[in-house]
Formats: sequence, C-alpha cells, structure tokens
Amino acid sequence: MPRKLTIKSPIDGATVGTVPRRSPRDVRAAYARLSAAQRDWEDVPRSERLRTVGLLASTLRKHRRELADLLVREIGKTPSEAEAEVLRTADLVDGTVREARRLRPETIRDRRHRGRVQTVDREPLGVVLAISPFNYPINLSISKLAPALAMGNTVLWKPSTQGSVVAARFVRRLYAAGFPRRLLTLITGRGGELGEALVDDPACAMVAMTGGTETGQWIARRAGLVPLLLELGGNDPAIVLADADLDLAAKHIVGGAFKLAGQRCTAVKRVYVVRGAADRLVRKIDAEVGRQFGSVGDPREHPIGPVIDDAAAKRQRRLIAAAKRQGARVIRGGTVRGRYVEPTVLDRVPHRSPVVGEEQFGPVLPIVRVKDVDEAVRLANDTEYGLQASIFTRNAPRAKRLASRIEAGGVHLNGPDQRAPDDFLFTGHKASGLGAQGIRFALERMSQPKAIVTNP
Ligand code: NAP
Repeated sequence: MPRKLTIKSPIDGATVGTVPRRSPRDVRAAYARLSAAQRDWEDVPRSERLRTVGLLASTLRKHRRELADLLVREIGKTPSEAEAEVLRTADLVDGTVREARRLRPETIRDRRHRGRVQTVDREPLGVVLAISPFNYPINLSISKLAPALAMGNTVLWKPSTQGSVVAARFVRRLYAAGFPRRLLTLITGRGGELGEALVDDPACAMVAMTGGTETGQWIARRAGLVPLLLELGGNDPAIVLADADLDLAAKHIVGGAFKLAGQRCTAVKRVYVVRGAADRLVRKIDAEVGRQFGSVGDPREHPIGPVIDDAAAKRQRRLIAAAKRQGARVIRGGTVRGRYVEPTVLDRVPHRSPVVGEEQFGPVLPIVRVKDVDEAVRLANDTEYGLQASIFTRNAPRAKRLASRIEAGGVHLNGPDQRAPDDFLFTGHKASGLGAQGIRFALERMSQPKAIVTNP
C-alpha cells in the first residue's frame, strides 16, 4: 500500500500536495501519546490554557492568504469564500476563548437540609476525536479543536482526505507558532481504512464529527457509550407563501442554493411555493441566479467552481436527467461538463423526484409547486433529514406558528439557512445529527459535569 496520498485539485486535476497515508497502528500510537499528555494539560491553569488556544486564531490570521489559496485549489472555493472561512474561524476561536473564560461552577442548595450544597463544575473528557468533512476543512475542524482544547482535552484530528493538505499546512504553521505538539495530532489517511481504529480505541473519549449521515450512523453504531457530537446531512426546504416578499425570497434562496456550488449542509436544496406565487417566484429566481451566479468555471474567475469530484458531478447529471424524465422544466442550466455543473433551476419538479428526496449537494435547485401551506409543510417534513429550513411570508405570527410545525433543528424566517454566527445554537434533528454546536453549547458538550456535595 503506498504510504502517501496525492491530493488533486477539483479545478483542473493538478496535484495540490501529498499527505501521509496513516495506518491503524499510527492511530493507536497517537492515542497513547495524546492520552498521556491530556493528564498534564487539564492541570494547566485555565488562563494559560486559553492563551495556548488563542494561537489557533493568530495562526489563522497570520497565514490567511496561504490557507485561503490552498482552500481554493484543494476544494474549488472562490477566493472570497476561502478567505471568509479562514477569518470567520479565527473569530470563532476568539469567541470560544471569551466564553470559556466566563464559565463558572454552578451551585445548587439542598432545600431540605440547610447548608448542604452541590457544586457542579465541568471536567475534560480525555482525548477527543475530531472528524471533519471536505466542504469547510478549516471551519468545521477548528470549531471542534478550539472548544475541546479549551476544556482541557487533547485532540486527534482526522480531516477529510480532500482537505488534508490545508489541514496539514495549518498544523505545521501552528506548531511553528509554539503550540505544543503533544496536545494535537493530525492523522491523515482514508476514513474507510482508519475508522475502526479511530472509534474503537479505548482512549477515544468523545467523537465530534461532521459529515454524511451514513458515516455518522456507522460511527454511532460503533461508538457505544462514548459521547457523540454529530453534524450530518441535510435536505433543507424553503417554503414560500403567497404573501411573501418575492424579491427577498428569490435573493436568499439563490444565495443559499448556489454558494460553494451547493455543497453546504445548510444549502437550500428544495423549494415549495404555493401556486399563486409560483410563476413570479420562478422568474425572479432565474434572474437572481443570472445576477449572483452567472457562470461556472475556475473559481478564481467565476462565481461557481467545480463540484468536489467526478462522482459528485455524475450524481448531479443523474438527478437532473431523472427530474427531466419526470416532467420537470429546465429553467436554467442543466449541463454538466467534467466536474463543472451549470447552476441549474428546475421547475414543476414532482416531490417524489430523487433531486428533491436526496441530498443532492450540487448547484441544482428543484422547485415544487404546492396547493397550500399545509401541503408545503407536509412535503417539507417528508424526509429523513431535519437540519434547517426557511419560510418566507410577511405574516410574522403565522411564520412562527409554521416554524413550530417544521421538523428541523433550526428555522429561518425571511432569511437564508446558515449556521453563522458561530455563537448561535446549531443542531440537526432526525438523521441530521446529535448534540448541538454553537460556541457555548460545544464547550458544554466537550466536557462532562462533575458534582461535589458539601455537607454542613
Ligand atoms: P463523509 O464522506 O461522511 O466524510 C466525512 C469525514 O468522515 C471525512 O473526514 C471522512 O474521511 C471521514 N470518514 C469516512 N468514513 C469514515 C469511517 N468509517 N470512520 C471514520 N471516519 C470516516 O462526508 P463529506 O463528503 O466529507 O461531507 C459532506 C457531508 O457532510 C454532507 O452530507 C453534508 O451535509 C455533511 N455536512 C454536514 C454539516 C452539518 O453541520 N450538519 C456541515 C457540513 C457538511 P475521508 O475523507 O478520508 O473519507
């Protein structure tokens, strides 16, 4: 087996870099080292620990151009998407440090026995396994590393294979800035080859993973009683009612559907519009795609780059073809050349079409026309996923009532699906995840409560 993996760019197939192809034996050795280091790390005073965590932010800022350039070549992001990811992540680290500094033990008094008091503090778990996906290799990794380290854990980081060159560069720069190597190990290699060693090791005290639902379910079945934080797939609907501001709806739906070539867990992946508003909305969406995402090509020159690999492009081709066979009308796009998928808008798509039912993860937007709001809600909920959703209507009380009927971890009223800002709670219901992200929630999840009872 070759001991290195060569990572190619989705833009043009050029080599971005090589990374070590680690083995299960390497995983076991890394756990042993991280486990030993963790015991000392949790004894380091909090202020010093948080200063060390702050190095994550300063390294990101100092090397933002270099890291953003790698994100462009390795993932196919536009330069502005890439730089925004790096800088937003540095802010997230700052927020994590601020929030961790504020954490205080909680005191609970026994009402029946005077003077009897329980103090609840938070302890680290041990070694946290952080597994990240390809679409935000920096943000969805460091949003795990920072809270885990801040709470006194050490971290074994398994990045997505496509995304491991930028991860390796970041770690190299971090160590060079003085971050102690013993606290964080990057383990590159194929998830399929390393999964059992990563999850089964007795030193694995928690799995924090973002990725596909199938991978998450495999991890959950294997992990037993180890705490989990899983952010998995989504198939986010946007519901547009007759009284909606259609310009606003079109703008946010298009931004939500096509950014990063639709490869975001919180991308708008299907639209349900009531019939009375459908013709106007479709026209506005078409025009808005032209305005925001007029062309596809090298992301350094076009607003939409490639999808991540050939398999992803093939999936888009299959889904578009199936929708057409089922009677969908192609309003725009529909062509796939290599890994480049034209921004595609499909109208009059039947709800049962796979482009609506599957997480398509590409720049393709199916629009389903419905007779009324009840049908929209029923179809929006007719999925295994439950990440986020958006509702567009001018009637605010009605929007709130509808939000409570949507089976999702978060609902946006008259705005785009997104996880930002990073202190907001972010969670998936149903097959979209387990546990909650968001700065404070992640700090809690990556530690365990410990109660000490004082008797008078
Ligand atoms: P993926 O194929 O599930 O991979 C995610 C990570 O898991 C990668 O690091 C992968 O490594 C690793 N992995 C694969 N098999 C494994 C195993 N058996 N044991 C341990 N680790 C394993 O997902 P992806 O294609 O990178 O990302 C896209 C998916 O992520 C979409 O479904 C998207 O919705 C979801 N996502 C969710 C959120 C959220 O917040 N809910 C955010 C972003 C993305 P390799 O790369 O080496 O296979």
